Amino acid sequence: MTSEQDRWSRVKGRLRTSVGEDVYTSWFARMDLEGVQEESVRLSVPTRFLKSWIQAHYAERVLSCWQAEMPEVHRIDLTVRSAVRPVVQPKEAPVTVEARRMDGRPAPELRATATAPVSATHDALGGSPLDPRLTFASFVVGRANTLAHAAARQVAEGRRGDPVMFNPLYIHAGVGLGKTHLLQAVTWAGNSGSERKVLYLTAEKFMYGFVAALKTQTALAFKEALRGIDVLVIDDLQFLQGKSTQAEFCHTLNALIDAGRQVVIAADRPPSDLESLDDRVRSRLAGGLVVEMGSLGEDLRLGILKSRVAAARAHHASFDVPEEVLNYLARTITHNGRDLEGAINRLLAHSKLNNQPVTLEMAEREVRDLIRPQEPKRIKIEDIQRVVARQYNVSRSDLLSSRRTANVVRPRQVAMYLAKTLTLRSLPEIGRRFGGRDHTTVLHAVRKIEALVSKDTALSEEVESLKRQLQE
Ligand code: ADP
Ligand code: MG
Repeated sequence: MTSEQDRWSRVKGRLRTSVGEDVYTSWFARMDLEGVQEESVRLSVPTRFLKSWIQAHYAERVLSCWQAEMPEVHRIDLTVRSAVRPVVQPKEAPVTVEARRMDGRPAPELRATATAPVSATHDALGGSPLDPRLTFASFVVGRANTLAHAAARQVAEGRRGDPVMFNPLYIHAGVGLGKTHLLQAVTWAGNSGSERKVLYLTAEKFMYGFVAALKTQTALAFKEALRGIDVLVIDDLQFLQGKSTQAEFCHTLNALIDAGRQVVIAADRPPSDLESLDDRVRSRLAGGLVVEMGSLGEDLRLGILKSRVAAARAHHASFDVPEEVLNYLARTITHNGRDLEGAINRLLAHSKLNNQPVTLEMAEREVRDLIRPQEPKRIKIEDIQRVVARQYNVSRSDLLSSRRTANVVRPRQVAMYLAKTLTLRSLPEIGRRFGGRDHTTVLHAVRKIEALVSKDTALSEEVESLKRQLQE
C-alpha cells in the first residue's frame, strides 16, 4: 500500500468517527481516492447523486478530515467514476487506485468476456440476464418494425448528457414480435461504450429487486443505484403488479425522466390498456413516444430465418438450409418469431443427429406442429377502439367520453358498429364498454352506420379497411 493509501485509510477513519457509522456507510463507503496533487485531493464516487449529496452536505467535513492528516490540502475534487471502468485507461486519466470492487471480487474488466463488458450496476441491481445473440446486428428491419427500430437505435446511440428526444420510449407488440430482442439490443449497444450505463430489467425483476431490497432494508441503496444509471430498460411491463410496486415504479419513472435519463419500456399492449396501472402512470407512459410493432410480414420472416441460419452456421459450419426450405418456412410459419427460431433449431438438431442435409421433405415433417391453422382471431373491443381511434386520429378516451362534436361522434359510431358485428358482445355490454352508454344508443349507432355504408362508398371502404386491420 502506498503512503497515499495509508493516509486515505486514516482520513476514512476520521470521517467515520466524525459522521457516525450509519451515515458513513450510506454515503462514503464507496468513495475512492483517485490521487493527491499538491494541494488538491481527487476523490470519486459511483453516482452523480452521491456526488451532489456529498458536495451539498459533507464537503467541509471531508476537507477538514484531510487537513487533519495533510494540512497542505486545500481542495477536494469529487468526480463520478463509471461503473464499468474503461478497459483501456485513457492516458490523461488520474492514477487510479488498483481496480477493485467493494466486495473484493475482481474489477469488472477482469471478468468481462469478449462479447461485452459487464456492468457493475447490473450486478448490484440484479439486472436481468442478457442473451448475447439479441443485438442490432441480428435484428432484421422490415415494415412492421421500422419506426421502433429507428427509435431504439436513436436511444442506443445517445451519449451521456445529450438531450433526450422521447421519454419514455414505449414499444408494444404481441408475443414473439421482437420486443425483447430490440430492448436487449439497446442494452448491449449502450453498454459497449462504457460511457453510459444501461440497465435492463424485466418488470418481474424490478418487482423482486425492489421487494427484496425493501426486505433487506437497502431500499435506499437500490434507489441510489437506480439513480446511477443513464438508461433504464424495462421489459414486459404488463407484469408489473401490486400497489406498492406501482407506486415505486411511478416514483422511479418520474425521478429518471425528470433527471433527463432515458427510459425504454416494452409491453404487450399500449399504455391505455394497462388496466392495473393508475392513471398518472399511464399518462406518463403515453407522454413519450409510443410505437407499435406489427405482425411479421413474409419478407421479415424470411430475413429472420436467414439471420438465424447464419448464426447457427457460426458454430455448425456444415449446416445449410436450401432457399426453397427457407421460403417454405417463411410462408407457413406465420405466427411469431419464436416459432421461426424453433423451426431452425429443430432442423439443426435433426440434421446434426441424423447427419443428413436439410430437405424440404424433412422440413415439412419436422415443423408440422408449428404451422398453426389460421384460426379466426378473437377481436376485442379494446382493439376496435384502438384501431378506430388511430384511423380517425382521436384518442380512445374521446371515444368513451360524452363529447358530441362531429369528429368524435362518427368514429364512435363506427367503433360501436364494429363491436356489434365483429364480436359476440351484447348491446348493453357494448354500451358499458363505451363509457357507460345505454343499449339504445348503441343500437342507433349500428343502424346509422349500416344505412350509411350502403350509400357512402368512402365510409364503406374505411369500414372495410378497419375490419382488415382488426382481422390481420
Ligand atoms: P417478444 O419479446 O416480443 O415476445 P422476442 O424479442 O423474444 O419477442 O422475439 C422472439 C424471437 O423472434 C426471438 O428469437 C427474436 O430474436 C426473433 N425476432 C423477432 N423479431 C425479430 C427481428 N425483427 N429480427 C430478428 N429476430 C427477430
Ligand atoms: Mg419478450
